This record gives sequence, C-alpha cells and structure tokens, in this order.
Amino acid sequence: MLPNDPTPLARREVRELQRYNAGLSSEQVAKRFGVSQIAKLGSNENPYGPSPQVGAAISSAMADSGLYPDAACSLLRDALSARLGVTPEQMVFGNGSEDLIAILCRVFLDHGDKLVTITPAFGLHTLYPHSLGAQVHAVPMLADGGFDIEGLIDALAVPPRMLMFSSPSNPVGSALSASQLEQILSALTPATLLVFDEAYYEYALASPGYPDVLTQLAEQQTPWIVLRTFSKAYALAGLRVGYGVVSSAALADLIDRLRTPFNVNRLAQVAALAALQDEAHLQAGLAATIRERERLNQALTEMGINVVPSLTNFLFFETDQPSAQLHETLLAYGVIVKPWLEPEYTCWTRVSIGSPDENDQFLAALSRSLRPPMIP
Ligand SMILES: *Cc1c(COP(=O)(O)O)cnc(C)c1O
Repeated sequence: MLPNDPTPLARREVRELQRYNAGLSSEQVAKRFGVSQIAKLGSNENPYGPSPQVGAAISSAMADSGLYPDAACSLLRDALSARLGVTPEQMVFGNGSEDLIAILCRVFLDHGDKLVTITPAFGLHTLYPHSLGAQVHAVPMLADGGFDIEGLIDALAVPPRMLMFSSPSNPVGSALSASQLEQILSALTPATLLVFDEAYYEYALASPGYPDVLTQLAEQQTPWIVLRTFSKAYALAGLRVGYGVVSSAALADLIDRLRTPFNVNRLAQVAALAALQDEAHLQAGLAATIRERERLNQALTEMGINVVPSLTNFLFFETDQPSAQLHETLLAYGVIVKPWLEPEYTCWTRVSIGSPDENDQFLAALSRSLRPPMIP
C-alpha cells in the first residue's frame, strides 16, 4: 500500500464499484481525432435547446444569485402539481432526477436488501444500489425489446425492498402498456417501493396507447414514486432539474430528510418554470425529434440492422461487431454514441436523435464503419 493511498479506507462497496460511463465531451473527441464537426449523440441531449424564454428568466434571476434558492421549489411545485392534478405535497425535486434516484436508494436500501430492475438498464439504477451493498436482481428484457412481465412478477414473489426501472426504457426505448403496468401493480405489496422512472414521458406521450401512468398509480395501495426530468424534452440537462410525484406526503418527507436542503439551485428553478410555460417550443422539439427518429429507424432497418422501435429520443440497435469497437470507429468520424457494455448487450449501441445534420453525419459514418473490408 502506498503511504498516501486512501483506497483501503473506502467502504468495500465503493472500492468494488464500476464508475458511471458519462461518455466523452465534444471537446475531447475534437482534440483526440482532429475532427471539427462533432455529432454528440451519446447522452440523449436535446439538439434544439431550451425555450428562448429560459434565457430571459435566468438573466433576470441573476441579480438574486447571492441568495439561497427556495428550498421547497414553491413556484415550480405549484405550477407542476396543478398541471399534473396532484397535491403540492406529492411533489419532490432533485438536482436532476438522478439526485432523486440517489436519495431514494440512500433512504430505502440497506446492506443486503434486494432491488429488482431490468437489464439492459439505466446505469444509475444499479450503480447507487450497488454502492449501498444492495442485491441487484435484473430481469432481462425480451428479445423483441419488450418487458418480461412474467419474469418481473416472478422476481416480486419474495417482495424486494424496491422495484426500479425506466419506462420508456433507457436504453431499449420500449414502454409498458397500460395492461402490463396493471399486472405489475397487482403483484406489488406494501413491502416494495415502486420507482417508476419516466424520464422520456413527454416523447412517449405522442405515441398512441402510451399509458397514463399517474392515473393508474392513483388507485394503487402500495408506495410509489414517478420520476421525470427537465433534462430531455425541455433541454435543460445542463441546469439539473428533476422531479418526482409520490404516493403520499410521508414518502416526500422521507426523501426530504436525506436531500441536501438547497438541491435545486435558483437559476434552475426559474429556468424550469419558464420552460414549462413555453408549450409551443416543447411541442416543436418533440415533433422534430419524432420525425427524425422514424427517418433514422427506417435508414437503419434498410441497412439490415436490428433496431428496436422507440418511444423516446434515442434508438437501440444491434450490430455484428462489439459496440465498443463501433464506438471507436465512429469517433474518428466525429460521431459520439453510447456503446452498451452490460453483459449480453455488448453488440448493442444507443444513439440519440440529434438534429437532421447530426443524424446524417451519424448515418454516413455508420455505413462506412459497417462496410465489409475490401478484398485486395
Ligand atoms: C436521462 C435520464 C435520467 C437523468 O436525468 P437527470 O434529470 O438529468 O438527472 C434519469 N433516468 C433516465 C432513465 C434517464 O435516461
């Protein structure tokens, strides 16, 4: 042991933890590969940016930056609860919804507790549970990209402390139907907290048959939280605002005990409120993304690639080569995607739906990367 090495002092779970793969920045790729035009399609960011009203709201709030933010996010709380038809006491806020995921894990998961999720999964749905020494039971998605309802219900037979997954799923892009959700809700007992991560809610809403999750949950007699975010459809990923709707004020109170008191900063609060009020900007971005998603889906299918139909702002597709290798090849063309690294999914890649130009750059780079080597 080096005299100054703190590693042995860390908790065992932390020493064994795999880091979250946050991907490369445009600057890093530009520098490493000497390319100037970067298509950053690895983090499901919104290429159209936030409402112009966000800039105005932030500018006028700047003068008060010396003051702590409203710890209760009151204005945002009132606006969102009215819009969603829930009580203000049913809302919780986070420094991004990932903050809420971390808090929920710290509140509910003790060493040895069981968490049920799906695989492939959003990395933080397993990273935080692992960091606390929880046992992660991941139910694989079906070959067609659907949720394995029977598998999930079997996994609930001995009630886990928490059931956490995203629907629409990141990275797969598929979602539970109303009847599938009903089946899962019927299998839950009060011993399990359901964490329903609906980060792509606004995109999915445009798809026919997408369930009204909050309405279905309103009847549920076991504890639940629905997580949403301003990072994706509202294009505020850089400002970090997420929220949850909870089954009872008691759950909000437990979350409040372990959050940092000022976890949503002043500028983020006014930005989210302004973004929420610009419905036209939101709808224009959603429509453009959905149009491009379908164009990309068709192009990939025509290239003979297995791609899962998506309700989100990304597509999940399978290639013959390991996605880590494809990712490296695409980087040389200035295209950043997310290679999936979970076992069983290492030939799968997630690509975010960018602007039309970025998507063209991705398609051109992909077809060059997949072209079989020339026979000399
Ligand atoms: C992007 C994403 C989040 C995180 O959103 P933030 O609000 O930016 O923290 C949470 N869950 C899923 C499934 C996501 O894809």
